[in-house]
Parts: sequence; C-alpha cells; structure tokens
Amino acid sequence: SGAGSASAGPRVVAIANQKGGVGKTTTAINLGTALAAVGERVLVLDLDSQGNASTGLGIDPESRFKTSFDILTGAATILDTVLKTAVPNLFVVPANSDLVGIDSALAGDPQTRPFKLRDAVTALVGQQRNRPADTHFNYVLIDCPPSLNVLTLNAMTAAHAVLVPVQCEFFALEGISQLKDSIEQIRASLNPRLEIQGVVLTMHDSRTALSKEVATNVRAFFGPKVYETVIPRNTRVAEAPSHGKPLLLYDYDCAGSQAYIRLATEIIEREKRFKAA
Ligand code: ADP
Ligand code: MG
Repeated sequence: SGAGSASAGPRVVAIANQKGGVGKTTTAINLGTALAAVGERVLVLDLDSQGNASTGLGIDPESRFKTSFDILTGAATILDTVLKTAVPNLFVVPANSDLVGIDSALAGDPQTRPFKLRDAVTALVGQQRNRPADTHFNYVLIDCPPSLNVLTLNAMTAAHAVLVPVQCEFFALEGISQLKDSIEQIRASLNPRLEIQGVVLTMHDSRTALSKEVATNVRAFFGPKVYETVIPRNTRVAEAPSHGKPLLLYDYDCAGSQAYIRLATEIIEREKRFKAA
C-alpha cells in the first residue's frame, strides 16, 4: 500500500473550500479514518483555529501541547506535534486558537511566509528517511480554514493536490471559480506541481431535486475530477464529533461511514491508475 514511496514522502492533500460548513473537516476526519482502515498511515494536519478536526479526533484542548501554529512559526517540527488517535494508523497535528494570530506571528518575513508548511513537510520527508518504513506517513490531509488566507496559502504551497468538498445546496458553485483561480495562481507562482485531487459532493439528499441539480452542475464544471462517490446527508455524521470519535468508530454501518470508505477506495484506485498510466 502507500500513496507515496518511502523516498518520495507522503502524498500531501489540502482539503480546501473558502466556504464554511461544506464538509472539509468532516472529510478530513472520515476520509483519514477510512484510508487508515485500509492500511495507509495517515496524518490529519489541523490548520483551522477552531480546532474541529482535533476535537473530532478526540484530542482535548489541554492535550494540544504543540500545534500547527508552532510548526508554522518554526518552533516545532511536524513530528514534535504529532498525536495518536483512537484509530490505528491515524495521527493528528492539532490546532487551537493560537492560529488566529498567525498573520502577526509571520509578519516579519513576507518572502518566506507562504513556504512555512512546505519547508516543514520537506523536513518530515528527510526525518522519515532515517526511520523504519512502517513509521512513514503515506498521506497528509490538511484541514484548511474557511478562507483563502495565509493558512490555506501555506497548505496549497505544501500540497501535491487540493481536495474540494462541495456541499449540495443552492450556492454550491458560488466562490468555486475563485477557488479554482487561486489554485491556478498558486500553481503558476508558488507550487508548480499543485493539482486538483478531486471534488467530493457532500451532504447530498437523494430525495431532493436541488441536490440532483447541484450534482449535475458541479459535474459539468469540474468534469471527471468529481468523484462518483457522493457523501449523503446523514445525522450520524453530524453526531459523531460530539463524541470525539470518527464516524467509522461511532457507527461503522451508517450510510455516511460507508460513503467515506467508498471515497477512500476511489481515491486509491485513481492514484493506482494514474501511476500505471
Ligand atoms: P467545514 O469544515 O467545511 O466548515 P464541517 O465538516 O465542519 O464543514 O461540516 C459542517 C457541519 O455539517 C458540521 O456540523 C458537520 O457535522 C455537518 N456535516 C458534515 N457532513 C455531513 C453529512 N454528510 N451529513 C450531515 N451533516 C454533515
Ligand atoms: Mg472545518
């Protein structure tokens, strides 16, 4: 298994959409869990000051000794901050409200500002080389904040690809061309390898014409980048974080869990096809 070979390092995926409430954090947690369940070693890197990914993975605020803020300011390496979760093979770099102050913390050095996370990932790849292969991360999933700010900029500069969750509601495509433009700008300037990993439709309600229409429009806009797998609107998905558990541990059999397992499978299959091509 493994998206990245030992020498190439992990596949780094920024989960981004500047709209809030579209399912970024839910996807980071549950896609991470599903990838871990099929044997990938996954690191969820929380880059949102709300720390919802950390909370949803069961990390109390008091246990967030070192956070993604410390990585960005150079006070800690990624490995310094990594915590275990209840899921084997799934790890997290926590975040907290320190990130609210990231702009002023990085104000002194505009030249290197966008590269803080990329440099930390490069250092991680170097550290991994000296460790047994079974401790290497295959995936780093970055949970971005709902904004195209310096944090998302760092995520996209560090990433191989952007995974875009799109909520199946009326304004789904609003802001999406801005997101696409940002990805293209970053590819042209800061990170030439950046691609769109895929687009995942979230909170889909098969009973409504609106969900169907949004799905059709998003598929027309992004073409084959949109995953076949659609994440249904499912109350179990929304309940799980309040128990500090990923959905797959909270209710493995629910429609949401099964959808995230299918999504993980689809992502792995696509990468295999891409590598074979
Ligand atoms: P974002 O990180 O983009 O702001 P979240 O992942 O936090 O979005 O999701 C926003 C809200 O919607 C949360 O309360 C979450 O529990 C809920 N939610 C996400 N996905 C689903 C789903 N498939 N079914 C039901 N509720 C969902
Ligand atoms: Mg979020």
